[in-house]
Amino acid sequence: MKITRISTLAVAPKFLFVKIETDEGIVGYGECLPDKAVIQAAAVQSFEHYLIGQDPTRIVHHWQAMVRGTFWRGGPSLGGGISGIELALWDILGKSLGVPVWQLLGGAVRDRIRVYYHCGGGTKEELVASAKALMDQGFTGLKFNPTGKQRVVEAPGTIERAVERVRAVRETVGNEVDVMLDFHGRVSPSMAVILEEEMRPYRPTFIEEPVLPENVPALTKLATQFKTPIATGERLFTRWGFREILESGAIGIIQPDPCVAGGVFETRQIAAMAETYYVGLAPHNPYGPLNLAACLHVAAASPNFFIQEIFDVTRLGGRAVKQPFEVVNGYIELPTRPGLGIDLDEEYCLANPMEPQVDHGRWFFEDDGSVADW
Ligand SMILES: [Mg+2]
Repeated sequence: MKITRISTLAVAPKFLFVKIETDEGIVGYGECLPDKAVIQAAAVQSFEHYLIGQDPTRIVHHWQAMVRGTFWRGGPSLGGGISGIELALWDILGKSLGVPVWQLLGGAVRDRIRVYYHCGGGTKEELVASAKALMDQGFTGLKFNPTGKQRVVEAPGTIERAVERVRAVRETVGNEVDVMLDFHGRVSPSMAVILEEEMRPYRPTFIEEPVLPENVPALTKLATQFKTPIATGERLFTRWGFREILESGAIGIIQPDPCVAGGVFETRQIAAMAETYYVGLAPHNPYGPLNLAACLHVAAASPNFFIQEIFDVTRLGGRAVKQPFEVVNGYIELPTRPGLGIDLDEEYCLANPMEPQVDHGRWFFEDDGSVADW
């Protein structure tokens, strides 16, 4: 079998899919990071000259060639393109053998996969209503960002509003539900300590990105001051990018994202590294259905998996795919079809392109006009 064609499809609301065709008629689908989709699509096409004519089943070999064949390695742009290709290659391998990808990763270590949605709202009342709606649908975990834009130090009112959102959600959902908080790297270490201490009575399951992941010593120091477990990893790439954070001992949950961390196999290997540090796996995925599929196959085969992120119902695929995922009582059943298990409805995808403006950027500005972390 040989690769004959590589292409990308940017689809509404915000999916960037990869399609790899072969001379045997097997088509593999993958997904890239959709942020700055123009750059991601160009990264995918930049490997066309290498991949055309190659055997698509030599996945690790091609990954090595794409990663190590350039002096400037890694990062979200190149890494996103390589990851999207890698997902599509696993889809082809699974389809060629007639088995789901998790079977090729050592077989399933669980029967179904627990997932969570995001809740949210501009007001506390909207947040509580959104959390209650998720409970009514049977979810056993949810996540939200309790903070808005944050200055390096904050006034008591801002702190109290953030803490009040956590209290209100905990009181709404009770004590058997995982309430996960995402600080989104917006918060300074000084403020993270104050917020964690005040939110601690409401027992968050973890606090995600309490500070930006680029400063591991800062995160490690926070871990000595927090009692709440720390989660991070959505902005780290490949095993090498995760090494230091795991060695630091700072975190309880690792959150690699297959569509940017390096693909299915890289995410599985990061999970295995985490297992040796007694760290749980909660793959990042606020993106689309092919990346969700990649997450589910890794989750199926990883003993230290904890819970899977899905941003909302639109990310299950909708009409963009022929077999959208279904969440029942907070779980998704193991995918059983060959490969990643879902195929694009290309006619729908071509008729519903991603609007260019969704990719322009998102900003927070302070009252004085300066930029705050989004
Ligand atoms: Mg996050």
